[in-house]
Amino acid sequence: MTSAPVQTGILALAREQVLERGEALNESQVLEVLQLPDDRLEELLALAHDVRMKWCGPEVEVEGIISLKTGGCPEDCHFCSQSGLFQSPVRAAWLDIPSLVEAAKQTAKTGATEFCIVAAVRGPDERLLAQVAAGIEAIRNEVDIQIACSLGMLTQEQVDQLAAMGVHRYNHNLETAKSHFPNVVTTHSWDERWNTLRMVRDAGMEVCCGGILGMGESLEQRAEFAANLAELEPDEVPLNFLNPRPGTPFGDLEVLPASEALKSVAAFRLALPRTILRFAGGREITLGDLGAKQGILGGINAVIVGNYLTTLGRPAEQDLDLLVDLQMPIKALNDTL
Ligand code: SF4
Repeated sequence: MTSAPVQTGILALAREQVLERGEALNESQVLEVLQLPDDRLEELLALAHDVRMKWCGPEVEVEGIISLKTGGCPEDCHFCSQSGLFQSPVRAAWLDIPSLVEAAKQTAKTGATEFCIVAAVRGPDERLLAQVAAGIEAIRNEVDIQIACSLGMLTQEQVDQLAAMGVHRYNHNLETAKSHFPNVVTTHSWDERWNTLRMVRDAGMEVCCGGILGMGESLEQRAEFAANLAELEPDEVPLNFLNPRPGTPFGDLEVLPASEALKSVAAFRLALPRTILRFAGGREITLGDLGAKQGILGGINAVIVGNYLTTLGRPAEQDLDLLVDLQMPIKALNDTL
């Protein structure tokens, strides 16, 4: 008679350290996870799922996003079709307040608790902040939903203004590891982004900060990025996978293989056991139809419904039906207040 093999290696260690004790994996441990062979993927996803269920619970947070100002951004983030510096097809456009309120209503109908107002800018100017203030007031009068903003880099004064408007969460992505950032953006620095995030946190708003995987970073840099995020301790981490957009400098990069994308999701969960880990853009192209299910059973506990900013996402119903299938309740607004 043979006995079951004793588990050794990084997954056994992670089971004891992260699942049992709730202590995150450090950078070198995350790297070991990212280096696991594909035949350990199922085991890894199951562990990441157990960690998420134990330290976050079964609820899934649903969020909608709307673009208040699209395209024409002066920055040169090499993945972004909204930069005005590349030949990408997205052109500058503004949304009016009634359309913003309507989008918030539709988002609330899906059961979403967060509605994020996004603008493609380096940072907000007075006109944009006035528009955001008017938009938030109009939404408040008609819709019961928490409001998040993503308006680029902020000054202290702007942070204070947004906090006074009652913005619940602020999104600003570090995008990639500090060491890889100069290969991705040259018009501003990683530290400028970090400073905005610290000010947001100190002002009492929730911090939402993630990035994009598959931008030519090494596995070491992917682990470094997970450690960078762990140091920041964001409330939410949106994980995107590069969807190479025509006309951008990263338009010819290869799409990340599905197994590598899923391994990364699970590794980030083990580095961030208590964070809201959200599937954001690019997952359809990387993971296909099965991706949502595997991700939600592999460490993810939040989704964006409907369309993303510049590319088409899946219809909201598909994601919400999936959550019903998986018997995962949508987090209610009252739980988050
Ligand atoms: S990622 Fe943001 S800051 Fe960078 S080019 Fe796109 S809209 Fe501008």
